[in-house]
Amino acid sequence: MYFVKTPWWLRSVYPSLTWKIPTKENQVFLTFDDGPHKTITPFVLNTLKKYNAKATFFCIGKNVESNPAIVKQILNEGHSIGNHTYNHLNGWKTNNEVYLKDVMKAKEVIHSKLFRPPYGRIRRYQIQHIQKSFDIIMWGVLSGDFDVSLSPQQCLQYVVENTKPGSVVVFHDSEKAFSRLEYVLPKALQYFHEKGWKCKQIEFA
Ligand SMILES: [Zn+2]
Repeated sequence: MYFVKTPWWLRSVYPSLTWKIPTKENQVFLTFDDGPHKTITPFVLNTLKKYNAKATFFCIGKNVESNPAIVKQILNEGHSIGNHTYNHLNGWKTNNEVYLKDVMKAKEVIHSKLFRPPYGRIRRYQIQHIQKSFDIIMWGVLSGDFDVSLSPQQCLQYVVENTKPGSVVVFHDSEKAFSRLEYVLPKALQYFHEKGWKCKQIEFA
């Protein structure tokens, strides 16, 4: 199971992680996990461009190695990137040493001080070590685009109902999510545009 909107008590268990971004302006922070992907990431970039929206891409190290030109394009277009481990490891199921080595291996190809744990699953020991080099960016809203049991319309509804200024919203530039993402992303961007909200990339604090 997962929470579409991150509950307050979960944020309070891990107060040193970033759950939302303090902002006085009407800014929202869209994030795309698990890429880069050779066709889906360019779709995301083109869609963002139509709305002059910026975002943050939490990349998997091995995908960066197979799609280096797309990472360059992400950065050239003014977005930011973050580390999402090299092999998309689950911190709860992975030995600490193996996990931290995987993060460092990804760091060699992803030049960023932002980190997001795959599945949001990370142990306190891992947090303590990773925070020496990274801001750990969690989220406030999960679009559910990865959930094959959801309709695209339900995903859009989740995003629209839960996103507020300062929200960090999770999408996925992955094959599994694409049939929902393709529908949700343009409509969500249109909704934010109508609200007068600006989509900004996350920068290392
Ligand atoms: Zn992921």
